[in-house]
Amino acid sequence: MEKIINAFLQEVSQRNTNEPEFMQAVSEVAQTVIPYIVANDIYHGKNILMRMAEPERVVMFRVPWIDHSGEIRVNRGYRIEMNSAIGPYKGGLRFHESVNLSILKFLAFEQVFKNALTTLPMGGGKGGADFNPKGKSDAEVMRFCQSFMTELFRHIGPNRDIPAGDIGVGGREIGYMFGQYKRLKNEFTGVLTGKGISWGGSLIRPEATGYGAVYFAQNMMETRGASFTGKNVVISGSGNVAQYAAEKVIQLGAKVLTMSDSSGFIHDPDGIDEEKLGFIMQLKNMSRQRIDKYVEQYTNASFHKGEKPWGISCDIAMPCATQNELDAADAKTLISNGCYCVSEGANMPSTPDAILHFHSNNVLYAPGKASNAGGVAVSGLEMAQNSLRYSWTREEVDQRLQAIMKDIHQVCASYGKLKDGINYEKGANIAGFVKVADAMLAQGVV
Ligand code: NDP
Repeated sequence: MEKIINAFLQEVSQRNTNEPEFMQAVSEVAQTVIPYIVANDIYHGKNILMRMAEPERVVMFRVPWIDHSGEIRVNRGYRIEMNSAIGPYKGGLRFHESVNLSILKFLAFEQVFKNALTTLPMGGGKGGADFNPKGKSDAEVMRFCQSFMTELFRHIGPNRDIPAGDIGVGGREIGYMFGQYKRLKNEFTGVLTGKGISWGGSLIRPEATGYGAVYFAQNMMETRGASFTGKNVVISGSGNVAQYAAEKVIQLGAKVLTMSDSSGFIHDPDGIDEEKLGFIMQLKNMSRQRIDKYVEQYTNASFHKGEKPWGISCDIAMPCATQNELDAADAKTLISNGCYCVSEGANMPSTPDAILHFHSNNVLYAPGKASNAGGVAVSGLEMAQNSLRYSWTREEVDQRLQAIMKDIHQVCASYGKLKDGINYEKGANIAGFVKVADAMLAQGVV
């Protein structure tokens, strides 16, 4: 089996040189999906995983814009249209200085499996630009978003490709991009998700990824008769996903001990309660400052410059910042401090070695493609509401989100069942694969 997997990975790697994140994502899927393909005749001789590892289309474009001092800047924009077998391309846009083809292809590849798990009819895509919104004025961000959309608009559409937010793209950026799309096309359609409530957005969309990751963890813990009540939770990040993961954790009666940004993490031994989380939301979403301001306000807390929060003892860890933020050493530390549940809010935050440690120590481990699927699921519900020209209530959307996360847990548990537990990574990969692969086989060689 190892020979077959290695031969496959070698071929993918030859076609995708210098794309380490993309290869990491493909390799992680190949380890569990290739044995499944070998065991199931219908997938033989179809080169199906190779077809899934090749984007249907990649668009790369120049994004020129003028900064506040009148200088002309140039960034690079991308859209990866990875797979449309089960629906139009769907996936976020990332604005971060680290953005490149490898990172967006890994995200687009993961998105295909994730969207399939939601049970909604959405293919997979991802895009973004190597633009850093930090420190930019609203007017600069608007000019950048308008220039970005001036090219992107010809590749997307409500039945073709529907982008959303990701790192560096929140409500403000979606608003600027939606405005420019509407102006260019002269039509008001649900071409983006994560829109404002008064112009086609869905209630609970901002909360959905973070809430969903907590709901998934809740489902995993129930398999061991446990719950969030009274537990200690360590969270990384302080953006959209981290904020609402923290909110739900607090609502469920657990204690949030940490949050972070790229400058370091804060540790509050008394717990980050609702009021303190409100302070973080204001800090991050409105005044757009660094996380260390927290300790000026709450003096019992400490700031750990340049460090990650995984050394703080906890029951549950939720990496909600970025890829590869939790390595093997961090996994060992977490486990030795008693952590037994890891639910990924971010995409691919744990390195392959970290995941091996989780598996060999019987940690309840949820890969992002399953546990953070709540965001895209509610984006799918936003698309449905846009098509119906109707809005569901907060409670209705939250109930649908909870039901979807339960279903994702269920399907991962059934494909990932082991003699003595559940391998959610295997379950997520195979369940996502089966749905997309079956659609691809039915549609012929396209
Ligand atoms: P935001 O931009 O709102 O927040 C990102 C957070 O992560 C910030 O606190 C940021 O700190 C931190 N961060 C980003 N890059 C790094 C880095 N290289 N090192 C350390 N910290 C970093 O993004 P989101 O919350 O939307 O996204 C977070 C993760 O969740 C990403 O992996 C994303 O792909 C994933 N995700 C998001 C979904 C969504 O609906 N938004 C859906 C599914 C997955 P700083 O401000 O200092 O950069």
